[in-house]
Amino acid sequence: MVGFEQRLGAVLAERRQQGLYRQRLTLESAQGPVVRVDGKEYLNFCSNDYLGLAAHPKVIESFQRAASAYGVGSGASHLVCGHSHPHRALEEALAELTGRGRALLFSSGFAANTGTLTTLLQPGDHVFQDRLNHASLLDGGLHSGARFRRFAHNDVADLQRRLAAAQGLKLVVVDGVFSMDGDSAPLARLAALCRREQAWLMVDDAHGFGVMGDNGAGSVQAAGLGSGDVPVLMATLGKALGSAGAFVAGDELLIEGLIQQARNYIYTTAIPPAVAAAALTALHLLREESWRREHLHQLIARFRRGAAELGLALMHSNSAIQPLLCGEAARAVELSRQLRERGLLIGAIRPPTVPAGTSRLRITLSAGHSEQQVDRLLEELGRCQCS
Ligand SMILES: *Cc1c(COP(=O)(O)O)cnc(C)c1O
Repeated sequence: MVGFEQRLGAVLAERRQQGLYRQRLTLESAQGPVVRVDGKEYLNFCSNDYLGLAAHPKVIESFQRAASAYGVGSGASHLVCGHSHPHRALEEALAELTGRGRALLFSSGFAANTGTLTTLLQPGDHVFQDRLNHASLLDGGLHSGARFRRFAHNDVADLQRRLAAAQGLKLVVVDGVFSMDGDSAPLARLAALCRREQAWLMVDDAHGFGVMGDNGAGSVQAAGLGSGDVPVLMATLGKALGSAGAFVAGDELLIEGLIQQARNYIYTTAIPPAVAAAALTALHLLREESWRREHLHQLIARFRRGAAELGLALMHSNSAIQPLLCGEAARAVELSRQLRERGLLIGAIRPPTVPAGTSRLRITLSAGHSEQQVDRLLEELGRCQCS
């Protein structure tokens, strides 16, 4: 019989041998365009802090002030006595920004997705997910007991065939902006199809919220859609908002359903009130410092122009995520290593996060970057011959 040690050991050995072993960096600085690791400074092109809000002085100040007033730990789950004024104020502001009746905070995006899917779906229902959806959406769908189908990436015709063949309650789930490719879901066409097929549409906008749409309201708003088109909207606070946690926004019925039934909501400690206060300040900054979004979009255009001139294999992305396809895992790892030697931090994304043969450098841009820093990135990429 194989024990746990042998099983764990075999997986580690296999990962090492295939060049898929992952290791963590330990940062010695705040998140930002430049970070310190092992006493050395690196230009950071792998963070999801797309607007440079994680270490914004006003966000830090709100966090500190709320920690003084509310302490650090929330002390309990939301339904016991862990729900405080900053949580409530943040939920109200999120509902307003997303144009929905209510919003509900979760401790993480992973919990929000699995909790929402397992609450909405039952055995006998059908859930349809884009092949490239985030792991938490796939896990939630699989755990729900509903019949689970994946459709080809951004392929509305493929989804249409699958929807037409299914009977019963149907839920379609997509990322608004895909986390490893950076491209956007065709939300308007998906919404029209879902309306015809009487399916609900759920969008995970972890990478669009704060970055896309007026005032950063996200991909759904940018596509001109409302809660009638996309009844379930989820986004995270740990990326463009520079904080932590996540939320689901929708109408009263959806939110009350989640409060009463979502196990990932009920049986977990609320995020610290100070984290909610920091996220609320970040939310105000989406409006007050709209230059951040404009600057980010200028940097994205600048990067794409420069990369095209270098002949690099760009993907169809107009988001802050600008991956460069490398193919084999070993090649992506080698390029990432070379860039790191030259002072640039860019993660190599390998299977199982992306399909075999599509390993890539996942370059992310932030409003915290300057044009000069993006030019430096292009210069180094040109030197490393990434295409
Ligand atoms: C990061 C991410 C999540 C998970 O959010 P966390 O708050 O980090 O748990 C969910 N969906 C997508 C698309 C993500 O990129």
